[in-house]
Amino acid sequence: MGHRHKKRFGQNFLNNRRVIERIVRAVDPRPEDHLVEIGPGEAAITLPLARSGARLDVIEIDRDLIPKLEKLFAPFDNITLHQADALQFDFSQLTPTPLRVVGNLPYNISSPLIFHLLGFKHLIRDMHFMLQKEVVERMTASPGSKTYGRLSVMVQYHCDATMLFTIGPGNFTPPPKVDSAIVRLVPRPFPVPARDEAHLEALVKQAFSQRRKTLRNTLKGLATPEDLEEVGIDPTLRAEAVPVEAFVRLSNHLVEKG
Ligand code: SAM
Repeated sequence: MGHRHKKRFGQNFLNNRRVIERIVRAVDPRPEDHLVEIGPGEAAITLPLARSGARLDVIEIDRDLIPKLEKLFAPFDNITLHQADALQFDFSQLTPTPLRVVGNLPYNISSPLIFHLLGFKHLIRDMHFMLQKEVVERMTASPGSKTYGRLSVMVQYHCDATMLFTIGPGNFTPPPKVDSAIVRLVPRPFPVPARDEAHLEALVKQAFSQRRKTLRNTLKGLATPEDLEEVGIDPTLRAEAVPVEAFVRLSNHLVEKG
């Protein structure tokens, strides 16, 4: 009997070979690579990735899928299957590095999972994820656009983020309600590093807490209008107009001021 798709695990499985091939081409796996796939499901992307000869660690939370995956992976000596929650997974146990992470992610865990992975960013060369299109738009948005927000600033602080292509609901079984897109995230040090990443995160969170208000209002208690002016930010702007590097400058100024 076929697998019963579990909503709580965000199980929308890819059913279109051409789309699968396109994703694998975008990843472009090489025999010398070390790939990590999160959420293999029924191995739609896993098997074509493994055929590249790359080493491949696979993390699946759903116990019911494990026997089928073990059978499918039996002919491959380059695949290691982990039955685990990717949100709790210690990616530093996977060697050698750098890792190339791939996943058609369950939409409900995509942001927390990406932030969990960014905790290991020094071990990661790149990440290719299928996400809700709207989430990819937020990740890749530029200042001034309606979708530019907290997720854009924090993802772009840690990574170069590029939307590669979109995928319609009909390419999944069962079809999700929304369009999906593939994003490529390449971790890199930000040109001006934050002195305290937790501070930057808290500042950005507060700045976007009320999108329609100006920074002088939203940042009350954290930064004065003089602080903003000192680092070249007009206090009458809204957070959505402020580039990533300006948030970093402001955070560093506040941290230094103590
Ligand atoms: N890769 C397959 C495909 O493209 O057809 C399946 C993608 S499906 C959208 C998401 C997969 O992630 C499911 O197999 C689901 O069981 C698994 N999953 C959900 N939450 C997870 C978690 N926290 N850790 C690891 N895998 C998870």
